[in-house]
Amino acid sequence: EQEIETTSANTSKVSTNDKSFMYSSLSSIFDELEQESGRLKNIACACQFFHEVLDFTPATDTDTKIRDLTMVTYLMVNRLGPDYVPGLELGLGETLLLKALAQSTGRELPQLRKEYHVEGDIGVVAQKSRSKQRVMFKPKRLSVLEVWKGLNEIAKSEGTNSQSKKIGVINKMLTACEGTEAKFLMRSLEGKLRINFGEKSIIVALSKAIVEWQLQQQKKAITTELIVKAEEQFKEAFCQLPNYEILIKIALQEGILHMVEHSGLSPGIPLKPMLAKPTKSVSEIFDTLEGKRFTCEYKYDGERAQLHLSEDGKMHVYSRNSENMTERYPDLIPVVNELKAQNPNIKTLILDCECVAWDNETKKILPFQILSTRKRKDVQEKDIKVKVCLFAFDILYYNGESLIHKPLAERRECLYHNLKHIEGKFTFATKMDTDNVEQITKFLDQSVHDACEGLMIKTLDGKESYYEPSKRSRNWLKLKKDYLEGVGDSLDLVVVGGYIGKGKRTGWYGGFLLASYNQDTGDYETVCKIGTGFSEELLQKLHDILKPTQIEKAKPSYVYDSSNSNASPDVWFEPTILFEVKVADLTTSPVYKCGITYFGDGEKGISLRFPRFIQIRSDKSPEDATSSDQIAEMYSSQANLQ
Ligand code: ATP
Repeated sequence: EQEIETTSANTSKVSTNDKSFMYSSLSSIFDELEQESGRLKNIACACQFFHEVLDFTPATDTDTKIRDLTMVTYLMVNRLGPDYVPGLELGLGETLLLKALAQSTGRELPQLRKEYHVEGDIGVVAQKSRSKQRVMFKPKRLSVLEVWKGLNEIAKSEGTNSQSKKIGVINKMLTACEGTEAKFLMRSLEGKLRINFGEKSIIVALSKAIVEWQLQQQKKAITTELIVKAEEQFKEAFCQLPNYEILIKIALQEGILHMVEHSGLSPGIPLKPMLAKPTKSVSEIFDTLEGKRFTCEYKYDGERAQLHLSEDGKMHVYSRNSENMTERYPDLIPVVNELKAQNPNIKTLILDCECVAWDNETKKILPFQILSTRKRKDVQEKDIKVKVCLFAFDILYYNGESLIHKPLAERRECLYHNLKHIEGKFTFATKMDTDNVEQITKFLDQSVHDACEGLMIKTLDGKESYYEPSKRSRNWLKLKKDYLEGVGDSLDLVVVGGYIGKGKRTGWYGGFLLASYNQDTGDYETVCKIGTGFSEELLQKLHDILKPTQIEKAKPSYVYDSSNSNASPDVWFEPTILFEVKVADLTTSPVYKCGITYFGDGEKGISLRFPRFIQIRSDKSPEDATSSDQIAEMYSSQANLQ
């Protein structure tokens, strides 16, 4: 929150140019991005826009450039600050937005509601309403800075009068909107920008614009090599320090080509966690990690918890998706205090742990389902019924020093040496350093017996054992007991379409079209139709969740076979929710398009055989879905076995 505060404080102090550029230029870029489906064209378009932002103020006015680039980047990702800062989410409800629209346009609420249900998009309704409205005076045009301030005011307003305050701010902005501005303003407020342009692509466009601009300033040649280097530097810095304001500042002040050396981990700011690749058998571990020394650890079934202790003595806990969970776990504060009491040398820390439900009486781990019954908000320590124990498996930062570029064996030493076991509250992941197949198999069984999902296998020495933020790495393998016979893991897939239910399922969707996410193109590639594993109650719930996300036609980013009735559903949805799916087998398909680039013939894709629904994966967003590359990799390792 502090960072954002600084942004707004800077705004009045530093800015010599209070005007900032017009919101209309940003909304017309949003419009272009929405219309265009090609990722490269979209990157070029956004890059051009970032150039305009950089050229808007005199070359020496770095502070305003930092402010402006920060605002525009956050508006593009549809947030008002980093994910780990709470209270900056928009996502206002339709009732409030329709009320504001009615007030500012003088239209009747029931009529607007009707139009909203026809269009399914509050932005379109707002744009149409504004264009029909006659005005006596042409209002002053909106600047990006005004929109930024307005949105921040809305996100931060709470208390008794907050509803009317929010409506007041929205009205003021809406009255000044022309053309597509109203559409994107309303969509931003609703938290559904729908510009078909993911964060990965935004980073590519932003880093390209900055490096080109800096090279131009230095009168140096712009080369592809330097553009790629800038992108790598920004991405690496972002994985360790996911805060655009700080990163843009470093990029502009120190030079984007030297960002990594000037950034790094910072306690209090969650880094993107390292992830693992699935394995289907113990013998496969030896193929993948050939010749390397490795360790096996229990794979606990709880919630990932990145525990931070900052210089000011504050503790923070972050989720797998960098969400701030500190308030959800007030019971961890005394645990950290006890760790500090045991070792008064501890000043700053970042630990990677799994937070697991714990039975204090039997002194045993409880299943994930129990953990998920814990309240998520306003948790008071005295009301907590489900106790948790932290199982630490890595240390990433200790007393001012980043450890991610040290071998795991060394990190572990540091972990064991500086932190101590606290019964039922804090301990280390159970491990076994062995390369004996029988011992590993036994250890796997023992992990399941001890209420774990299976094992994590990790490389111990050398560069290959460094902690790789945000990477799904070959140096971390997961071996899940439940999936040994299948493809090694469950898949998390995006629901992109629905089939109208028949018979007992009339009135709901009877089946769903699922897709994987192609991280390179930003496309959703269809992978299977699923209709098993759903209770009637669940189908009803899914209908309630999905109906409001229904769209008229497939999005340009959906890759599917329109000539096949199985692969083109009755209705399409915005990509919003993910299903975790269990699958027996992967197969090639002329109809489904997952991994279409893997085969390269432009037709064949990969499909799931006998998919079965397990649960809704509410902790992941569509871009976190199992990627087409991951599925192609699973397919190829399965093909190798045959
Ligand atoms: P899933 O949790 O469904 O397996 P994921 O995509 O969330 O998938 P993975 O990389 O597949 O994450 O698996 C690693 C997860 O396992 C970590 O995010 C962490 O929450 C959990 N975990 C449990 N025990 C360990 C351990 N000893 N080392 C690393 N991660 C562990």
